Amino acid sequence: MTTTVKSAVAPEFYLSEFAGMLAEVRWEAGLTVRALGRAIRHHHSRVVCAEQGKTQPTWQLTVEFLRRCGVSGDKLLVWSTLWDITRQAERRRKGQVRGSLQPDAEFWSEIQEQWQRAKAQLSWPDSLVTKLRMVSTKRELGLALLELGSRAGYTSVRQIADRGGVPKTTVHDWVIARRLPDAERLAALVKDLGATRDEWEEFAAALRRLSGQRCDAVHEPSARPCMLSEYHRGSHRTLRGDEWLDDGTLDGRRLHQASVRLGVHS
Ligand SMILES: [Zn+2]
Repeated sequence: MTTTVKSAVAPEFYLSEFAGMLAEVRWEAGLTVRALGRAIRHHHSRVVCAEQGKTQPTWQLTVEFLRRCGVSGDKLLVWSTLWDITRQAERRRKGQVRGSLQPDAEFWSEIQEQWQRAKAQLSWPDSLVTKLRMVSTKRELGLALLELGSRAGYTSVRQIADRGGVPKTTVHDWVIARRLPDAERLAALVKDLGATRDEWEEFAAALRRLSGQRCDAVHEPSARPCMLSEYHRGSHRTLRGDEWLDDGTLDGRRLHQASVRLGVHS
C-alpha cells in the first residue's frame, strides 16, 4: 500500500536547517566567509556552499568549520549527530525522488524526533563544565578527568596517561584521590584530551579550590581579607560580602547600578 508522506516538515528541511545553523555559528564567531575559509584552508566557496545547503558538506569540512568557530566538546558531539541525521534524510529523500524507495512516514517521524532531541542538546550547558563547577573533593576531580578521557576515547588510566605523556602511576594517584594533580601537568593533560577552553578553565579552578590557597588581597576600608581562592577571577570578596577590584573600584555592573541610582547617563 502506498501512502503519501505525512511529515510535519519537508524532507529537504534537514539539509537547509543544517546549513542555516552553520551560517549562524560563523556569524556568532564574528568571522567572514573569507576569513573562515582562510583559517581552515578551504576556498571560501566551499564555506558558501556549506551554508547554502545545496549539498551536505563532508564531516571533515564541517568539523574544521565548527572548531574554528569555537564549537568543541559535548557540542561537537551533538553536531556530529545532526550531521548524521542530515545525511540519512538526504539519502532517503534522493531515494524517494528516484522512486526507488517508498515514502516512509515512520522513518521521517523518527528523523524528526532525533533532530529535535539533538537540537535541544545544543542549548544544554556543557555537562562536564557543570560537573567541574561542583567538584569539591579530589575524587570528584579524578572522576571528571576520567569522564573527559572517555569522551576522547581513552577509557583507562593507562590510555589517558599515555595520551598526556604523564606516568601512569601519577594519573592513577590523581584518580584514586591519593594526591592532588599539579596545575601545569593537569592543564597540559586536559588539553591533550580535547578539553574545551571552558573545561580546562574549570579544571584549573576546581584544582585551586581543592588546594585551599586563599587570595592575599585585603579590603582596605574594612581591613578584611578576601575569602576567595588564590587565583579566583573577577572581584575580591570578604566574608562580610564587600566586593572590590584590584584598582579599588567596584566591578562594572555595580558601577553601572550606582550611576543609574545617581541618575548619571553613560
Ligand atoms: Zn581575592
